Amino acid sequence: MPPADLLHRGEHTLTVCNSCRYCEQYCAVFPAMERRLTFSDADLVYLGNLCHNCGECLYACQYAPPHEFGIDVPRTMAELRLHSYEEDCWPRPLARAFRRQGALTSLVLAAGFSAILFAATVQLNPSALSPGRTDAEFYAVVPHGVMVAVFGAVGGFVALALGVSVWRYWRRISPRGTPGPTPRALARAVRDALTLRHLHASGPDCVSAEEARAPWRRWWHHATLGGFLLCFASTSVAAVYHAAFGWEAPHPYTSLPVLLGTAGGVGLVLGPAGQWWLRRRRDPALADPAQQGLDASLLVLLWLTSATGLLLLALRARTVMGPLLLVHLGVVLALFVTLPYGKFVHGFYRLAALVKDAAERDADGSV
Ligand code: SF4
Ligand code: SF4
Repeated sequence: MPPADLLHRGEHTLTVCNSCRYCEQYCAVFPAMERRLTFSDADLVYLGNLCHNCGECLYACQYAPPHEFGIDVPRTMAELRLHSYEEDCWPRPLARAFRRQGALTSLVLAAGFSAILFAATVQLNPSALSPGRTDAEFYAVVPHGVMVAVFGAVGGFVALALGVSVWRYWRRISPRGTPGPTPRALARAVRDALTLRHLHASGPDCVSAEEARAPWRRWWHHATLGGFLLCFASTSVAAVYHAAFGWEAPHPYTSLPVLLGTAGGVGLVLGPAGQWWLRRRRDPALADPAQQGLDASLLVLLWLTSATGLLLLALRARTVMGPLLLVHLGVVLALFVTLPYGKFVHGFYRLAALVKDAAERDADGSV
């Protein structure tokens, strides 16, 4: 559980909000709060993850610092979120990784994996990096079986770690006796997540400072998530092509995996770059300083993955293909191993909170 002083601050904040209720139209947090008279530790963790850090309630609040009540809902919810990531992560000793991430650690990790792949290739398959190679044959550099073994093992571990973490978190916020999700609640939660409904609480625009609103935060989020899903679809289609039809990479530029991967790569170059640009302009009062490194780490690795992937696609028939492939794979490995211990988990935790919120609204008949 989060430390006692944070739990106490969370309870104090929500108790004041529950009396005031000025912000009840902004997002799902306030109606969910109003369904409670008291706040257990699990309630605080749940509400922390339901908050999208849109920031509206900070600027609306007459009790915000420097008022003696010190009500700062976005900051308090952000701190509760970080603690829930750490508490429920698997394996638990890796929880400290959440606080050690940053742009530099991501770069070092990516460089380290790339160097290992270079060393292994030079040792085991020296002809793969010969200067005359222009055949675009990725599997001549890293054999298909090696790619499947390495990324299958790492991907399997990532899926297991994420699955256990989200399950622990769900058990924590949904003790026995609380309403379970119906298909309707699930559909509503997925819709709210995909439309980022609560990221822009007072209209189509997101707030970046007092009276400063623009739609960009929402659009860069959409570009990032859409890009990630398209890249995942591209890899999945390529895997089916290989396993079911024997159609091996490289695929033509007009093939489905390449079209999906190109569109996803463009989204993943623009989205993280846009979010990076925005976070430097957003009011620092809306951010939890302890989470700046988490944001930076994920954005850097997503951007590098897509940038090196697009470069590899453009230069695949040039002699630079071999080294570029090893750099790209090193970056992807760095991204994979940090997924369960970084900002990436917020999507799953928030979706679970939205599912719980939709189930509660279903149960009490509210809209
Ligand atoms: S954030 Fe401030 S204004 Fe909004 S409900 Fe809470 S106490 Fe009231
Ligand atoms: S989503 Fe926005 S309005 Fe709602 S609690 Fe979080 S910061 Fe406040």
